[in-house]
Amino acid sequence: MKKLVLASNNAKKMKELDALLAPLGFEIIPQVQLGIAEAEEPFGTFIENALAKARHAARHSGLPALADDSGLCVRALGGAPGVFSARYAGEPKSDARNNEKLLADLAGHDDRRAHFVSLLVLVRNADDPQPIIAEGEWHGEILTTPRGADGFGYDPLFYVPSCCQTAAELDAATKNRLSHRGQAMQQLIARLPAL
Ligand code: IMP
Repeated sequence: MKKLVLASNNAKKMKELDALLAPLGFEIIPQVQLGIAEAEEPFGTFIENALAKARHAARHSGLPALADDSGLCVRALGGAPGVFSARYAGEPKSDARNNEKLLADLAGHDDRRAHFVSLLVLVRNADDPQPIIAEGEWHGEILTTPRGADGFGYDPLFYVPSCCQTAAELDAATKNRLSHRGQAMQQLIARLPAL
């Protein structure tokens, strides 16, 4: 098994990525298991934050590291919550409060179009000059009331027209096949022999 540190403490994100990478012979080690704290995410773009997280995990573990920086971009809100998705309603992070704030901010808007973005960055070491980078997008609409109990984050409000379900109503395999993270992961996997 090839060891890969995952630069995230989000257990549900971890589960999604593990399902995609374990069959390929990668042992995913969450950074928290190695006592590595979450990196700062001070940047205005997903790519910069993902790179910072991956380098941080590689530097503190001495292992190759994979980071995902992801978020929800809502058209009528000019792309918000974007890179602030995890903490949209402030500290401490709360999916429930984030969803409430999203509904409040979108009240009265007819345009409910939104997409998730995932930027995956894999570094072979902390100073890797050529990180492997992949990007996925998943388009849908924001409902006015939450539906479904699976997934995490904004999934209960994210309606996927092609499935007539929210992301929180989809089974895990279907979400992994369609989602921003699943798409980015497929691109990344295609480039893994370069490791
Ligand atoms: P990150 O851990 O800094 O990348 O924060 C990503 C945030 O974006 C999460 O905390 C969620 O609020 C949101 N997000 C990213 N991916 C998903 C997803 O697949 N479903 C629902 N929300 C997501």
